[in-house]
Amino acid sequence: MGDLARRDVLSWLGKGALGAAALSVVGQEAAASPSGVTALVGATLIDGTGRPPVRDATIVLAGDRILAAGRHRDLPRGVRVVDVAGKYVIPGLWDLHTHASFFADTVAPLHVVQGVTGVREMWGQPETHDTRRRIEAGEVLGPRMVIASNIVDGPGAIWPGADVVRTPDEARAAVRGAKDGGADFVKVYSFLSPECYAAIAAEARRLRIPFAGHVPARVPVRDALAQHTHEHLYNLFTSTSDNADELYAKLRALPDDPADPNWWGRQSGRMERAAVATHSPARAAELFRAMARRGTWQSPTLFVERNMSRSPSSIVNDPVALDRLRYIPVDLRAQWQLIMSGRPERTPEEVAALLAFGDARMRLLRQMHEAGVGVVAGTDAGFAYVFPGFSLHDELALLVRAGLTPMAALRAATSEAARCLGLAHETGTVSAGKQADLVVLDADPLADITNVSRIHAVVSRGRYLGPADRARVLAEIEAAAQEPAEAPATPMGCCVH
Ligand SMILES: [Zn+2]
Ligand SMILES: [Zn+2]
Repeated sequence: MGDLARRDVLSWLGKGALGAAALSVVGQEAAASPSGVTALVGATLIDGTGRPPVRDATIVLAGDRILAAGRHRDLPRGVRVVDVAGKYVIPGLWDLHTHASFFADTVAPLHVVQGVTGVREMWGQPETHDTRRRIEAGEVLGPRMVIASNIVDGPGAIWPGADVVRTPDEARAAVRGAKDGGADFVKVYSFLSPECYAAIAAEARRLRIPFAGHVPARVPVRDALAQHTHEHLYNLFTSTSDNADELYAKLRALPDDPADPNWWGRQSGRMERAAVATHSPARAAELFRAMARRGTWQSPTLFVERNMSRSPSSIVNDPVALDRLRYIPVDLRAQWQLIMSGRPERTPEEVAALLAFGDARMRLLRQMHEAGVGVVAGTDAGFAYVFPGFSLHDELALLVRAGLTPMAALRAATSEAARCLGLAHETGTVSAGKQADLVVLDADPLADITNVSRIHAVVSRGRYLGPADRARVLAEIEAAAQEPAEAPATPMGCCVH
């Protein structure tokens, strides 16, 4: 990391380019400086690259760009200085598995005030693209967005509105439709047949559009390495069982039940849990080596799985959840209640068994990470009781619990997330030239990863949101959340869980 030289700042000021990129700041704490240049001074910088922290750092921002980040030097006049001595600066966080960010007055700004300045939306809808346009035009506060296509699924699809494909021709047409519709990638789902899935992979390769999502339950993970990200750690025990071939033959023969769309998922889930007993460490090692070689990413979404392992009554009555509900729009809350009301209560024994299965999955995640498989942080925010912004902090804590270092967990939501998205030249680290997204923390996240929730300020697209600004935005979100909006056409989950 280069030191910040005074002459560099003077030269940027002299270039006059900053006029066009005038710093957009809000609130009484952040009056714009005459030069349009702001410097955050005195914090410890954890830049997201994995390099050691830099104490007493200076981070210079203009417009939506980081001009410099490094050790403190004197700054020329005209630069507005924000004293953040004693604080910790990290890159803006990315949540690579979200839903419902099209709620432009609630969900979108909630991500940002909680430090999530970028999201990958896993079910693209016309409203999602509308909200992204409004955010990019500066009309509303929200994260940067990478947007999936509609869900592409097989005849057993559980979500109304998904694009259901029954033949390879239909599967190829769905990929072309996704590309023409402006999706950043194709979202694949659990009930695709192996034949349709192969057709999607080939068409996506031909059209140079990535595909990502659930590895379909009838497709062994080793046959899904071209899929850019694998969500939720699904099917890993089936795929690494000594009996894998037999289990997949059974899964392919298992019919859909149109009367009970969730029946199939329950059967395959039961097989996956039973496969822990026949797990082959050698098969797992071979699979993870292949994933690492191929560059296939894992997006484990630990929090949602862990949360959904509980009994519905304990999820909906959780005091932390009850407190956070006030930020969730009433329409989304109603959907969450609908999802939860359809779930049976669990006995303590069932909960213990599911949590133990979750622990087994976390051990697999650690092995994948150690084998060099890229891991990114995603939450399923917007799905029932997965709170936008907040849940990413919970996810990072679970990544550490699974065995990642706090630095590796942070990178899963910053530099690794950016690399996964192909956006490493723009985002993911606090470095000169990158987009101006930062989080200022009150305490050291490397000493205790839960400190990522102790947010002092957020910088989103160069916009500085200090403590008073964040409190004001949260109050606005809470007020907006009580107003019923136009009901969206489709539900906002994506997951079987
Ligand atoms: Zn999802
Ligand atoms: Zn999912």
